[in-house]
Amino acid sequence: MSFDSQFDALLEEAVLRLDADRRTGVRFLSTDLNSLRKEVTTCERCELCDTRNKTVFGEGSPNAHLLLIGEAPGFQEDKQGQPFVGPAGELLTKMIQAIELTREGVFIANVLKCRPPGNQDPLPHQIESCRPFLQEQIRLIRPRVICTLGAFAARTVIGTDQSLSRLRGRIHLVEKTPLIATFHPAYLLRRPEDKFKAWEDLKTVKRELEKQPGVAGFGRPSP
Ligand code: SF4
Repeated sequence: MSFDSQFDALLEEAVLRLDADRRTGVRFLSTDLNSLRKEVTTCERCELCDTRNKTVFGEGSPNAHLLLIGEAPGFQEDKQGQPFVGPAGELLTKMIQAIELTREGVFIANVLKCRPPGNQDPLPHQIESCRPFLQEQIRLIRPRVICTLGAFAARTVIGTDQSLSRLRGRIHLVEKTPLIATFHPAYLLRRPEDKFKAWEDLKTVKRELEKQPGVAGFGRPSP
């Protein structure tokens, strides 16, 4: 990349950052997932609101013991407003079933709630603008275990720049909640030879869930 194009890219990023800062500052009024979902639907905290079709808040049980976190909506998710649809979503469903849970019994979310155009990697200011929504989801769901899908989600939620290979195979703690990092299902579709490693991660997720007091199956019963 030439100096000029590097400079232009930095300038563009700075302008976008300022724009995000200008839009940031919403104070959450939500006391439950439904009202938080409504806040996400109308969110304009970063420029992705200009290009999205639908926000993708996430779906599943509000009482889930397990929270799965991916990166950002893709083309189909943006059209349908649901996380993990299409072949990667089907594989994720199988991964969840492999540890004797159901898709309806867990909660599935993404770091970003709107699709970056062209499936670009999320930019730092977009992550920062959207991060409070994920934090609120964690606070409201109170999962016993978190599982991140892919390097990007793991780095964002753990708060590190380490590679996924270094983050896998360990149990991290996020606000005292155990977190296990595994591969994104879309990656596993491209590299099926790594599915056995994902299976090891999923077994760790199951073990961590089983260690939690009062966890038996598919999510806390509704109060
Ligand atoms: S990506 Fe997140 S912060 Fe940006 S507009 Fe969508 S919901 Fe708001």
